Amino acid sequence: MKEKLLISACLCGKNTKYSGGNNLIERLDELQQKYDLYLICPEVDGGLTTPRNPSEQLGEKVVSNKGVDVTNEFNLGSKIALEVALKNNIKKALLKESSPSCGTHKIYDGTFSGKKIQGMGVAAKLLKENGIEVYSDEEIEKLL
Ligand code: SF4
Repeated sequence: MKEKLLISACLCGKNTKYSGGNNLIERLDELQQKYDLYLICPEVDGGLTTPRNPSEQLGEKVVSNKGVDVTNEFNLGSKIALEVALKNNIKKALLKESSPSCGTHKIYDGTFSGKKIQGMGVAAKLLKENGIEVYSDEEIEKLL
């Protein structure tokens, strides 16, 4: 039986990015051979539209580049991702690096200037706090 893997939907080619596009990874076929994939998009699942204004973490909040507080949507989508993992007994997640939801090592610094800092996206952090091993798309080889 294949192992289960929670994965950012945009990495699978779903057009869930804020811009309306995706972040399709080259090695999706290899992943699918090894894992049953469970797609999540915390921003869309939390009620945000696609396309949408980009958001960044600012302290405890998440705010769009238009100054709209989207913390509640981000928190809701993160909880939904965790529910999917717990309900299906999923132990590992592959998430899109640098996203304010899915980033596992880096996030943008909240100034919308393109500068990245060390940190985790809201969903990545919640998953990790609940015992899920989180990996970014930049370290996919650890899962293959
Ligand atoms: Fe991809 Fe995560 Fe952003 Fe959704 S929230 S588009 S899954 S990086």
